[in-house]
Amino acid sequence: MSTQRKTIIAGNWKMNKVTSQGKELASGVVNGIKDKVDLPEVVLCPPFTLLHEVLEATKGTAVKVGAQNMDYRDDGAFTGEVSPVMLVAAGVTHVIIGHSERRQFFGETNSTVNLRLKAALKHDLVPIVCVGETLDEREEGLTDAVVRRQVSASLADIDESDLETIVFAYEPVWAIGTGKVCEAVEADRVCGSIRSTINEYYSRADGPQKASKSSAGDSIPVLYGGSVKASNVDEQLALPNIDGSLVGGASLTDKDFLPIIEGGAKRVKLTPSKA
Ligand code: PEP
Repeated sequence: MSTQRKTIIAGNWKMNKVTSQGKELASGVVNGIKDKVDLPEVVLCPPFTLLHEVLEATKGTAVKVGAQNMDYRDDGAFTGEVSPVMLVAAGVTHVIIGHSERRQFFGETNSTVNLRLKAALKHDLVPIVCVGETLDEREEGLTDAVVRRQVSASLADIDESDLETIVFAYEPVWAIGTGKVCEAVEADRVCGSIRSTINEYYSRADGPQKASKSSAGDSIPVLYGGSVKASNVDEQLALPNIDGSLVGGASLTDKDFLPIIEGGAKRVKLTPSKA
């Protein structure tokens, strides 16, 4: 794996927008970047009901479309669920896995994150795996322990050679939708620790061969998410361990989202290998 990492700006629309609004927003993003150069990878993650419209609006462009969740099974009697097979057939390329709102409100656990991650990799969907601590955990000094556990548990039984497309997002729960931003230097530190956790996870101290050190994490993009907006994105993306942004509230209008994409473009321009 190469150690050059992409810059990615992903918008998580959550449970917002109806058909006409979704079309309008996706077209606004497409039109807003159509003549731009040095663009980061842009991913729009609308609700399931808007995937078709957003796929139509982004057809023939570099903008990618992701789902906000999926089941880990291919098909069957699982009322209300959407499978990776269905997403791929619809033209979706990315999927958010383990968002804190799924963990908080819908029973997502580290082990279901692992199942979804395996399913995404099996079906060639790019997984954006979210990890992050709650406010209580941060105040108790548990940030690193919680994030390391979430990262390692998500990777259980996944081979290093299957990590090619995986993306992580550090999303401190207390910073999501609250307007409270994690200080850029601290976000950068945790993003770096996600990468070193991955390296440690795949490094072997025992085994028939002598100890081998993995650098798998060095190639994996790690995004920051939590009240990202135009006014803070440049500071975040100037740091070495933050490869992009997972954006909630500020992805809901093109007026707010386009300047964040522009922030990603600045990072690409400064380090062209990060396109
Ligand atoms: C998110 O939904 O992943 C998120 C980071 O939300 P917000 O940008 O609104 O904090």
